[in-house]
Amino acid sequence: MPWNLLKQDPYRHFLAERVSDPPQGRVVQVVLLRWTDSYAVFTTEGQEINTEVTRAGLSSNGRISRAVLFKRKQVAAERRTGKAWRRQYADRIQLDALWQAVPGEEREKILNCSLIQNLCGLCPDCILYGFAAQEETRGSIPSRVWTDTAFSIGPVEPQTFTLNAVDEVTHTTEHALAEREHLPPGIVFPSVETLVDVTPAELVYVLSNILRTRRYGAEKSRAGVVRSIILDVFFGDTEKFTNLELSQRFYDALATSVEDWSRLPVESLQQAWPTIRDQVMKDYPGVLHRFDALDGLHSALKDQVSSEDHVVEFLRQLEEGAVAYHQSRSSSSEAPSRRGRRTRRPREERPEEEEPEEEA
Ligand SMILES: [Zn+2]
Repeated sequence: MPWNLLKQDPYRHFLAERVSDPPQGRVVQVVLLRWTDSYAVFTTEGQEINTEVTRAGLSSNGRISRAVLFKRKQVAAERRTGKAWRRQYADRIQLDALWQAVPGEEREKILNCSLIQNLCGLCPDCILYGFAAQEETRGSIPSRVWTDTAFSIGPVEPQTFTLNAVDEVTHTTEHALAEREHLPPGIVFPSVETLVDVTPAELVYVLSNILRTRRYGAEKSRAGVVRSIILDVFFGDTEKFTNLELSQRFYDALATSVEDWSRLPVESLQQAWPTIRDQVMKDYPGVLHRFDALDGLHSALKDQVSSEDHVVEFLRQLEEGAVAYHQSRSSSSEAPSRRGRRTRRPREERPEEEEPEEEA
């Protein structure tokens, strides 16, 4: 299991032993590079790609128009991957213990848990990524996976495609169906996922979801292939890495050598990374340890998600964590719970702020 590597000092001190542990602000930061490996449509609505004008770099003056990959686009895609995984192996991971640990007739709800309207609020995924209660009787669960909108390293120029449909009988194109902006392949987004008070199994679940999700944004069935690589994983008590600042630091590092920002060689980013990383670590106070066995963790993860037996074994352990969580909650149901807020919170404070993905 990949988490044997996580049991070493000092990393184990920054992971929770149980899902039900009281919050201690233990932080795991996963720093990623995501880049488009086909045309991609990152838009909240309509035909235009989301962009934002921001300062080019920390030391580079001037402002550039960056492509934006919204936080929910990242995490919703990864959650869907994880949820489909659980559903696919449901008959082999023995959900009975989880069904028995929660009150009421929740079997179908847990089994069919899906984004966004059918979240069950009971399964390991909902307990980790968060759940917004729609009814008064069930508490919301704040997400312990913190993400933020990611920005492309360099300026972008979206390309507009006209979508046509050819009539099967006449073989003519009657009219254009739509025009839509696309991002070309090769746009790179540094992105940080910050996990708070997670167990080793929950960390492995998030990493598996990141590595197994290949499509983001709209028009998924035809485009939107994105590759994510993990640059580093950190354990500590502080968030030091943030998305826009990383994009700006990469911009500074590459500004003198790059001619075409839409064709960034990933190797040059990997070369620039250690200097950027060390500078960020130095610039901000707080404890944060760089995980020194990333290659080992990576191959253990690959091994685990590539074998059905290992997947089943892992998902069972994840399920057991959720069972323990519910058991501890029901035994302390009189005491105020950190996760089970019984009052309905205003919409803007709710943890699950995902919106339906527009599908073209
Ligand atoms: Zn659920």
